Amino acid sequence: MTQQSAVLLITFLAGLVVAAILLGTARRNVLSRSAMVIAALAIPSWVIYFASNQGRSFLAAKGFLSTMPDALWFGLTFGVFTAAFFLALGYVYGDARRRQMPAWAWVIAASLIPNLIGFILYFLFRGPLLCPCSSCGKPIRGGEAFCSHCGSSQGSSIGRITADSAQKGV
Ligand SMILES: [Zn+2]
Repeated sequence: MTQQSAVLLITFLAGLVVAAILLGTARRNVLSRSAMVIAALAIPSWVIYFASNQGRSFLAAKGFLSTMPDALWFGLTFGVFTAAFFLALGYVYGDARRRQMPAWAWVIAASLIPNLIGFILYFLFRGPLLCPCSSCGKPIRGGEAFCSHCGSSQGSSIGRITADSAQKGV
């Protein structure tokens, strides 16, 4: 196995794992639908690009193998990696929103700060998960005894709120 194909294989598998984990959270309505659409389009787009003459001459110019199977493999790897990246951005957007954090600011930070450091910062600094107040319905921190908006006691519903937030998870 050449070094080039080893790097591609690792990138491909890493992208698949990240995409699978993020799609696993999709049923919790955290991942935005537009991110899933962009992610799904990314794979055929890159495959078509690298299979085209333009993509193959780009590969050749960069010193990579540019036969058709190599080009398709390149396209698939790039596609899966791009898909995972957009799914991760979609997750940051949905997760920041339910935590009442500036979602677009975090999406921009995560996409612009290189080497995935933006994503790491997000997970380090994200706020606590919010639950609706049992009285007024406004979002409050899970497990708080009193609502910070209306002041009503959350005692009777703490069991339910804790169960809800455990269910919603990550
Ligand atoms: Zn309240």
